Parts: sequence; C-alpha cells; structure tokens
Amino acid sequence: MKKPIPTSHESIQDKPIYCTECGDKLEDFCFSEDAKNLEVIRKHHEVCKKVKRFKGDQCSRLFIAEPTEPIGPTDVEDQ
Ligand SMILES: [Zn+2]
Ligand SMILES: [Zn+2]
Repeated sequence: MKKPIPTSHESIQDKPIYCTECGDKLEDFCFSEDAKNLEVIRKHHEVCKKVKRFKGDQCSRLFIAEPTEPIGPTDVEDQ
C-alpha cells in the first residue's frame, strides 16, 4: 500500500486575488504585459464601467498601473 500523495488541491492558502471594484482576477494581471500598458488598462476600465460591475470608481488595475493617480474625492473633514 502506498501512502497517499498530498495534492495541490488542498492548497487553499494561495487564493486568487480579485479586483475589489469589478471582480476581475488580478493575479495574472500583475505578471502580464498589460500591467505596463495604461491604454489597455483604461480600455478595460471603460468596459467594466459600461457593464456596471463597478462598486467603486476606479479599477484596481488602474491603481496598480498608476498608483499616484487620485482615486475619487478625498475624505477631508472640514472643522
Ligand atoms: Zn475590470
Ligand atoms: Zn477592476
């Protein structure tokens, strides 16, 4: 009798990363050439907005590619 070989099936630790805004998978995006292509990302962003999958206002892809760009109104309290 052979010992059962643990399968990668049980590796629940590395769960996929999804964009919090549109729900797209991000794990492969980080390694793809698209991550450096702002035009591709912006196009994707527009498509996502059109299909109304957005919960926020900026796709995480845009955020990854352009982390310096402001993401909507800032939470400044006037006192
Ligand atoms: Zn998206
Ligand atoms: Zn997104």
